[in-house]
Amino acid sequence: MLDSTKIEHFKQKLLQEKERLELELTDIGAINSADGVDWSGTPGELEVSSEDRNELADKIEEQQTNEAIVSELETRKLAVEEALKRIEDGTYGLCKVCGKPIDEERLEANPAADTCIEHAE
Ligand SMILES: [Zn+2]
Repeated sequence: MLDSTKIEHFKQKLLQEKERLELELTDIGAINSADGVDWSGTPGELEVSSEDRNELADKIEEQQTNEAIVSELETRKLAVEEALKRIEDGTYGLCKVCGKPIDEERLEANPAADTCIEHAE
């Protein structure tokens, strides 16, 4: 089992990562719901009347790329938030499949890990 000092260490790492992810999401995405849960890619300045079809295609492509990144960041943010919740619940550091403690090295590399190496996806 992890002692409270270790858990605090991983908690700080998770909080830092959460903050970083939120900054990245603010940078690239737009909050489109009042509670800030749902994020989407920003369309950029889409010049609809433009005759330059290439430019329009670029803009659309840029938006799609943003959406892909936003969805990746969202997934990561969710994993970090779930890990923080497990710290509150006292189940942090345990594999969700077999319930065994997760290697500290693994948590060091990814504090949001919720499975042991054996049960990694
Ligand atoms: Zn396991």
